[in-house]
Amino acid sequence: MSGSEGRAMRALVERLYPLCRSLTGDGVRETLDVIAERIPLERHQVASGTEVGDWTVPREWNVDEAWVADVDGRRVVDFREHNLHLVGYSRPIRERVTLETLRAHCHSLPEHPDWIPYRTSYYDEDWGFCLRHRDLEALSDPEYDVVIDSRLEDGELCYGELELPGTSGREYVFSVHVCHPSLANDNLSGIAVAVELARWLGARERRNGYRLLFIPGTIGSITWLARNRERLAGLAGGMSLVCLGDPRALQYKRSLPGDRPIDRAAAHVVERRGGHVIDFMPYGYDERQFSSPGARIPYGSLMRGQHGRFPEYHTSADDLDFIRDDQLVDALEALRELVGILEQNRRVKSLVPFGEPQLGRRGLYRTLGGEADPAEASMAMLWLLALATGEHDLLAIAERAGLAFDVVARAADRLRDHGLIEDLPEESASG
Ligand code: ZN
Repeated sequence: MSGSEGRAMRALVERLYPLCRSLTGDGVRETLDVIAERIPLERHQVASGTEVGDWTVPREWNVDEAWVADVDGRRVVDFREHNLHLVGYSRPIRERVTLETLRAHCHSLPEHPDWIPYRTSYYDEDWGFCLRHRDLEALSDPEYDVVIDSRLEDGELCYGELELPGTSGREYVFSVHVCHPSLANDNLSGIAVAVELARWLGARERRNGYRLLFIPGTIGSITWLARNRERLAGLAGGMSLVCLGDPRALQYKRSLPGDRPIDRAAAHVVERRGGHVIDFMPYGYDERQFSSPGARIPYGSLMRGQHGRFPEYHTSADDLDFIRDDQLVDALEALRELVGILEQNRRVKSLVPFGEPQLGRRGLYRTLGGEADPAEASMAMLWLLALATGEHDLLAIAERAGLAFDVVARAADRLRDHGLIEDLPEESASG
């Protein structure tokens, strides 16, 4: 199962990697087309110039070709070789420029001379190239021909959405970005994990609703919020999924309130997998927009390497070799566990509260067929019976017991089926 999921996620990343994505444009459309082959994606188009919140949907950007050539016509940088070579949203230009002018429009990484950086110029009109520092240093002709055959014109912003309704009236959002060009960990790993998560969610019965958003950075979540104000009241939480394929352990960045069901569930899952939890900060991904005062959705972020904090970030070294199938699968499994908690968490109340109920008589004492670890399962029952006052939810009991949530949830099912505890709704649960 996990082998085939790993292969499916890898295959998706490999197909999406060469496409030139940006905030808008054909690369985003093609990306959504590929995703729509795996899940029933709903597509949205919002016209350039549309006001969304305090922002305006930008003009659409597409590129036919972009290169720099020396006066003999030899191309020294070519967008066709790597789409990171062109600064995103570069305006068109066809000019012979001095080396000095060219250098003023070039970006490189002296500390990693063989890596191409990733740069954009979304909201001010400029042009530029990104190249290996080694190649930049080698430029020595007095003049170069610069050609950027790009189109910045009225078009649309496209994003994809998948709504998977539930019955509880609560909905959780998972968002990923579809705006980066050839970068594997940043964007594509999150897309691949989100697609597999959506397939799994779509095939199971759901208490909660789930919504998956495939959107460009910043303007995407701002656009979604502007168009979905009426949905906000039903949103119980969410998280952005980013950089999930690199070799590091999982990290969960808490939502702004920090202690909501989504935070508690994520912390439980991530910490039990050897990862860590960090506090909210107003920098990062969609959590910035969903946390804003008008929305105030508890919105966290699941990642491995943190944006800006690993050397390969936003460079050509974030390539297909940088991400690992087993790390993608591990992230997917963590998210399934998290959903399991959101689905099953509830408070429990003992129906036999004066002294322990006699478990042996009911076949519940150390005779738990089907449990991988019967001693652990027994301990889960004893903790449940000890804490089944109606104040604590299963996740709090699992944390207190130092046991995995699913062990406690299965024990709670068993005690309920034997009439020893009753379920109470999750609402008003204390931690
Ligand atoms: Zn990025």
